[in-house]
Amino acid sequence: MVQSPNLLPTAELQARDAAHHMHPFTHGAELGKKGARIITSADGCWLTDSDGNRILDAMAGLWCVNIGYGRQELVDAAARQMQELPFYNTFFQTTHVPVIELAERLAQLAPGDLNHVFFASSGSEANDTNLRMVRTYWEMKGQPSKKAIISRWNAYHGSSVGSGSLGGMKGMHAQGGMPIPDIHHIDQPNWWSEGGDMTPEEFGIERAQQLEAKIKELGADNVAAFIAEPVQGAGGVIVPPDSYWPEIQRICDKYDILLIADEVICGFGRTGNWFGSQTMNIKPHIMTIAKGLSSGYLPIGGSIVCDEVAEVIGSGEFNHGYTYSGHPVACAVALENLRLLEEEQIIDTVRTETAPYLKEKFESLTDHPMVGEAKIVGMMGSIALTPDKATRAAFASEAGTVGYICRERCFSNNLIMRHVGDRMIISPPLVISKGEIDTLIERALLSLDEAM
Ligand code: PLP
Repeated sequence: MVQSPNLLPTAELQARDAAHHMHPFTHGAELGKKGARIITSADGCWLTDSDGNRILDAMAGLWCVNIGYGRQELVDAAARQMQELPFYNTFFQTTHVPVIELAERLAQLAPGDLNHVFFASSGSEANDTNLRMVRTYWEMKGQPSKKAIISRWNAYHGSSVGSGSLGGMKGMHAQGGMPIPDIHHIDQPNWWSEGGDMTPEEFGIERAQQLEAKIKELGADNVAAFIAEPVQGAGGVIVPPDSYWPEIQRICDKYDILLIADEVICGFGRTGNWFGSQTMNIKPHIMTIAKGLSSGYLPIGGSIVCDEVAEVIGSGEFNHGYTYSGHPVACAVALENLRLLEEEQIIDTVRTETAPYLKEKFESLTDHPMVGEAKIVGMMGSIALTPDKATRAAFASEAGTVGYICRERCFSNNLIMRHVGDRMIISPPLVISKGEIDTLIERALLSLDEAM
């Protein structure tokens, strides 16, 4: 019998990993020194590592395991589909049942006239689709000058050249020739760090009006779309002031600019509704989806597109697609995931029970001397670490690794939280119980104390 690699000594696995595996978003030298934490199995909200530790995953993997780990129904759905039809493509006038059913289901779930789905295998690919689709839409409508896409600093829309350009991560732009032309960025609505003397509401309006100023600078005839996450995720879980989104919506409507809501994190229950656009009350023309669509069990993403854009694009040939657009096994798993989310009323429970409980506990973290604001929507939240709550100061840059130290303390206390600069983030599986929320908060407080 072959020995399970999970039973090999941790140090041996770490050395083999460091020797041959190039990790995304990881400093190579750090990895060589410390070795990666090796996750061997998971159930519910809990991971097990190669040393047998049980770790509370307050990040749902990478914001994606909405339904929790270990759902046999998803395994069975994948196995059934693998036996029946493991692959066929959706190019050149072919289709199959899982992709038909999933597109139809997404059209039912999505708000308004978002009735058409273009599939991909990830959020990055889906945003590449959007980039090309919105420009092609305006070309086909006889307005080819409408090419520019406006996004926000610190937005994360993916890691391919197109989606990384749409994103606003300066560290990414510095490597490998990004952003590509005709992409422009405005500031994010981060009141805690950048709001100065303004009230959150004043600040929300000021930040939204940067969009109007940018449109006027470029000329509305040159602007195709504005893209944003309803609640910015990887940029630090930046919950916008209430005034922000209504003003953005007004501006997009006024200047005839397509609105793309990147729902890769916010979609499928994360904010307490099926989509973050519903929570923020916005009406996008296109929504980007991935992650929670399959709860991360298999890679799948896509763009849900409104009638008008789909009709124009469908009036000719859109020369775009991926081998795995609408992969049958990924579609079958996504369908089963959506079925469970609905039948078990998981999103309703988040909205009415667990998210309000989490909000109360999470906001009480501001009693800790190092925690400034605590912001949370549904099951995504962040705390801002500060040496001085009154001035909302940031830690000096040489000590700016406080977030990193906190994350490491969380790790050693068997809690996974993420840090973005000096913000600490949570995005747990939607099935987290009240008892597990208590454990999350206890371990977070302990880690904050140890990091002081
Ligand atoms: N859009 C948002 C809002 C994301 O958070 C991410 C990933 O974290 C992406 C797009 C990219 O998705 P993927 O990593 O599946 O390519």
